[in-house]
Amino acid sequence: MSIKGNVHTHIFTKDTIPGEIYFGRHELSKGAMKIVRWILSWVEKNGLPDDIEELISIAEKVLPLFGVDDEWKRLKQLVKMYYMSVPEILDLYEKKILPGAGIEEMCILIPNFPGDFTHSAVDIICAAAKGREAFKVFAPLAFVERDDVFGVKYYPALEGPPDAVTDEFKKAADLNKPVSSHQSPGGVRNAKFPVSLAKKYNQPGRWMDALERYPIRVCLDHVGGRNAFVSWLTDGMFRPGVNWSFDNMMRSYDGIEYPGKVYFDVAFHEKQTNSDYRKAIANLTGHWNNRGMFGNDEPLSDVQGSMKEASGWFRNVWGVDGVNSANDTYKEFLYGCK
Ligand SMILES: [Zn+2]
Repeated sequence: MSIKGNVHTHIFTKDTIPGEIYFGRHELSKGAMKIVRWILSWVEKNGLPDDIEELISIAEKVLPLFGVDDEWKRLKQLVKMYYMSVPEILDLYEKKILPGAGIEEMCILIPNFPGDFTHSAVDIICAAAKGREAFKVFAPLAFVERDDVFGVKYYPALEGPPDAVTDEFKKAADLNKPVSSHQSPGGVRNAKFPVSLAKKYNQPGRWMDALERYPIRVCLDHVGGRNAFVSWLTDGMFRPGVNWSFDNMMRSYDGIEYPGKVYFDVAFHEKQTNSDYRKAIANLTGHWNNRGMFGNDEPLSDVQGSMKEASGWFRNVWGVDGVNSANDTYKEFLYGCK
């Protein structure tokens, strides 16, 4: 059963992401962060070896000092990709990773990192993806009018809340381009925003103004994180339509009452095969139906499992009907029609 698309992936290489931000995620252990920093500074001092495998074997000699044996198996893939060129990475996805996972295509989301870096990242990734049908590039709002940019990636904790730039989304609506927005309490943030402010900006309700004004399609990434999603759908602690902003958004912005419509992806929902997650998926009803898509936050998710494993969990837990519905939803999100 083929999955039409992975709606949430990134290309994080030395050419497309500032080094000081890379790997700055809480999913990595302290030991893993230390080995990553050790590798970055080793390359800065000694230069990059011609063969990345050589760098990997140098790092493996000092691994016992950092105590990350198990984690290393997965971390290794992230490190290799960081030093690969973008065309090399796209080749790897096109020929090996996507077919291996039974997925037809992937949306590459480019966050708006501070400074000049983003412009060159967009140029590099768009150039490399050009003419390759398996890739759809989502770039920050400033790039929405480019023909090689398929959709918008918005990151409230990096660039401010969407309601501060509501009218900018008119362009996305006019061009019929979808929007993917980071929407969980955590994740990277701009150093100028304190954590509490970043959390407020990441609230899905900040999308209301744009959704009430323009016919935009917005994927609320991560659905607020695995725990909130599962808890809402299983333990009855929330009152539907009253006290979980995600449910309010799903209920209100379905493209009927207002022109805008929201969707969600399950990126970085670990332990999908656990019984609580299965129960949550079984409880998806009403306005939650036909709005969810597969995404895994590749390659960051490699610390918990490969894209193949993630697509396996998704098939397993969502079932044939769920995957078919996610495929239809993916097409609707991308193109605006079923
Ligand atoms: Zn992501």
